[in-house]
Amino acid sequence: MSAAAIEGRCLCGAVHVAVGDPPGWVGICHCDMCKRWSGAVFACFGASDVTVTGPVVEYRSSPKSFRAFCGQCGSHLYMADEGRAERDLMPGLFAETKDWPVRSEIYTDRALCWARVPGDHARATEAEYQKKHPSPLGETS
Ligand SMILES: [Zn+2]
Ligand SMILES: [Zn+2]
Repeated sequence: MSAAAIEGRCLCGAVHVAVGDPPGWVGICHCDMCKRWSGAVFACFGASDVTVTGPVVEYRSSPKSFRAFCGQCGSHLYMADEGRAERDLMPGLFAETKDWPVRSEIYTDRALCWARVPGDHARATEAEYQKKHPSPLGETS
């Protein structure tokens, strides 16, 4: 069951994001791509009922995925796979996400040493995650 609809915005306010089906939890990925893109710690939540308005720039980060940011202030907005409606949104855009728990954390062995997330959520190292989600090219998205 989803939480109530939420609305968020980027730092400068030019991009507005409305989410009709927020899950009420976030996932964390410490892979090199997510770490590089976010600058440190990458957390996101998936939703499909998403309306984004404003000067959005979509950067193709791999053959199958792209990452979006505000073309005016650079705030990270979401990542998504080609041809898939779901967006993995950045929780910091929305006030409501402050109280959402972490549901999963992957690539834990790649995390910055101070980025230890407390709690008993599911965790997987790079090897454990790739064993469960094999990629033919061995690449992350
Ligand atoms: Zn902005
Ligand atoms: Zn990642």
